[in-house]
Amino acid sequence: METSGTVLLLVEHVGDHLRTASLPAITFGREAAARHGGGLILLLIGPGASAAAADAATYGAQVLTVEGPGLEHPLAETWAPIIARIAREQGASVVAATATSTGKDVLPRVAALLDAGMASDVTGIAGPRTFQRPMQAGNIIARIEVATAIVVASVRQTAFPPAHPVGAAGAITAVAAGPIDPRGAAFVSLSASDSARPELTDAKIIVSGGRGMREGKNFKILEELTDLLGGAIGASRAATDAGLVPSDWQVGQTGKVVAPELYIAVAISGAIQHLAGMKGSKVIVAINKDPEAPIFQVADYGLVTTWEVALPTLIAEVKKLKAAQL
Ligand SMILES: Cc1cc2nc3c(=O)[nH]c(=O)nc-3n(C[C@H](O)[C@H](O)[C@H](O)COP(=O)(O)OP(=O)(O)OC[C@H]3O[C@@H](n4cnc5c(N)ncnc54)[C@H](O)[C@@H]3O)c2cc1C
Repeated sequence: METSGTVLLLVEHVGDHLRTASLPAITFGREAAARHGGGLILLLIGPGASAAAADAATYGAQVLTVEGPGLEHPLAETWAPIIARIAREQGASVVAATATSTGKDVLPRVAALLDAGMASDVTGIAGPRTFQRPMQAGNIIARIEVATAIVVASVRQTAFPPAHPVGAAGAITAVAAGPIDPRGAAFVSLSASDSARPELTDAKIIVSGGRGMREGKNFKILEELTDLLGGAIGASRAATDAGLVPSDWQVGQTGKVVAPELYIAVAISGAIQHLAGMKGSKVIVAINKDPEAPIFQVADYGLVTTWEVALPTLIAEVKKLKAAQL
């Protein structure tokens, strides 16, 4: 198949602006476009795509928007054929998106429709078709080569710095959705968590609790600290599996991958599968009563004590500091 070196990047939006999660993928897209000698196209799909296009255009790339009936909800079955068609029309060499739940859902279908190989959860670019990606819970960094003409790649959000707007805005074009066939899939409902806190994957500060919190009601004290710090709350899989907290709080290999400025792990042992989701955090603080807990091996600051002792003191100190700032 003839390709033009173009990188087609699916970006997500909230209201009239891009999701923070999409910004690292733009950095990836710029580098991939440079490696392929082509341009970068940002693709927005769904309600509000045209409203968010102006924000997307500030990143200096060409912007395509697709809206219309049948695209009200982000169904991979309806989105994938549109992305694949536009990729063909543009002669795209690379089709990519951030490895969010939307990206992970839609991209493999796009790859199948384009008969393209796919690199998942890419953490580095080593060549036009060669990428780095973590395997075995991050213990192996694999270098993989995609041998097909078109490369489909999902990008690990924490591995690339967020892109910044550039001076010149790119052109915005609305593209027809074309016939939409959900192939038997139907949108049923969306259970969005109703929280004033930032998204886990967007938060600069995360406070996470583990099995050592023992009961769901004990997470209230973690929530108090989280809200004082203006952060998001996370958990280990042991805590979510035990039903102490909702499963969308899970951080780790099979949960969310995060890299905030500050990650406070409370009563979490630090199993490799948990570390796989948070060890890229800038500053890691661990509170654990067991001095041998593996979390202390990755922590910048560690408190060997129980959360019952540490958290009330920490909360009181943060309150004092905040009061002093007022
Ligand atoms: C395929 C696979 C995928 C997985 N994916 C994930 C994943 O995505 N995310 C994830 O987190 N796990 C994942 N796991 C599970 C992982 O292996 C661990 O079982 C889990 O992370 C342990 O959670 P925890 O640290 O909360 O619990 P534990 O290992 O039981 O640790 C609890 C800790 O709390 C401490 N503690 C107890 N009481 C107190 C107290 N009062 N004050 C202070 N500290 C206290 C203890 O000293 C202990 O270190 C996965 C496992 C597998 C096999």
